Amino acid sequence: MALFSMHHFAYAGPNLHCESVDLAAVVQLYGTPTYVYSAATMAGHYNRLVSGLGGLDAHICYAIKANSNIAVLRHFANLGAGFDLVSGGELRRVLAAGVDVTRSVFAGVGKSEAEIRLALETRIHAFHVESEPELIRINHVAGKLGVKAPIAFRVNPDVDAGTHAKITTGKAANKFGIPLDKAGAAYAAAAKCPNIAIRGVQMHIGSQLTSIAPFVEAVKKLAPLAATLKQRHNIEYFSIGGGIGIVYKDALASGPRDWWTSQPEDTRPITPETYGAALAPLLKPLGLKILIEPGRFLVGNAGVLLSQVEYLKRGQGKNFLVLDAAMNDLVRPAMYDSFHQIVPLRRDTTRPAITADIVGPVCETGDCFARDRDIQQLSEGEHVAIMSAGAYGCTMASRYNSRCLPAEVLVHGAAFDLIKTRENFASQIAGENIPAFLK
Ligand SMILES: *Cc1c(COP(=O)(O)O)cnc(C)c1O
Repeated sequence: MALFSMHHFAYAGPNLHCESVDLAAVVQLYGTPTYVYSAATMAGHYNRLVSGLGGLDAHICYAIKANSNIAVLRHFANLGAGFDLVSGGELRRVLAAGVDVTRSVFAGVGKSEAEIRLALETRIHAFHVESEPELIRINHVAGKLGVKAPIAFRVNPDVDAGTHAKITTGKAANKFGIPLDKAGAAYAAAAKCPNIAIRGVQMHIGSQLTSIAPFVEAVKKLAPLAATLKQRHNIEYFSIGGGIGIVYKDALASGPRDWWTSQPEDTRPITPETYGAALAPLLKPLGLKILIEPGRFLVGNAGVLLSQVEYLKRGQGKNFLVLDAAMNDLVRPAMYDSFHQIVPLRRDTTRPAITADIVGPVCETGDCFARDRDIQQLSEGEHVAIMSAGAYGCTMASRYNSRCLPAEVLVHGAAFDLIKTRENFASQIAGENIPAFLK
């Protein structure tokens, strides 16, 4: 197997680069906080997953919610991906990226009538239906439009993904999908709907899975159902969802090596090869098209958040490195207690290391990217990169504390371009209004 670097962020001389671009140049042009993405890293992960699933008739639907910038969507469409979308807004993003939605699937527990209509009008590949009331609504909207709506039910296999509680979706207690023992009846009901065309079956058990076992367990649980549905309803595909975890710890050190395979076996994360090798023997005999919906895996290691040091505050027995990025820009540490490696943009091995809490300026104790972290001493005006921030970073950003949304930059070899302008104050308050009765 060819050497595959997990991402294309590495020091060249003292300066951190993304592909051939010195990130100091990005900071100089566009300021901070700024997300920077590597097109080569996204393509590398995509292509490696395609080959990992080599023995299967597999199709990748990139889960947009991980990173929905239209340039990122266009990049994945150019690579051959379809999309997994969860809202009308995401559907419109696919169209805005200049891509049709005929290879995209529409998931989510609360699809509105307007969203269903838009998806039918733009010829979505299929709806992933999460309840019988939703089936009835889709049937109704399709009838009004005089079309047949393609569907698959999301079936909840009741498997513990062993991941963070907020991103576990495949347990019976979660709001997602229909229970396995109700699936047969749900499909029978769908078969009776005049405006529904049954196309497949779907599962998605959670996010950031670092062990293959829950995937295997869930596929084993659903495979007999998929075989029955193929017989009874002539389904075409089995979507096994997303959820493949990525490496957050020591992400940078791993740059030039094949991180995955250089890890000891007992702590090795899921690789595209182990994923494919474990699932292909279970899936291949079904003779179905296999859809897979990775989000984080394709973009997580492909992005960093660049930030400027505002202060080094020496507290009582504690140092605080105060950044200009905050929980509103990257909420994962506050929301999921997640780890992100944080490194200086300019490495200076002659400087002492300090131990510090690396925090943002937002008025919340939870606005903390890292606690008691060892990092090279940095002073005001210098910069850091928060690694592995390409997934659920910018898409979860907010304006909390009236901070403007960050800029986004895409790197491709030696080229880079702004793919989202930093928000300014005028656009931040553009929709706000003081009513006449207050004047
Ligand atoms: C969020 C989501 C995904 C992607 O999950 P990742 O962990 O980012 O791979 C896939 N399918 C569905 C239905 C989702 O909701």
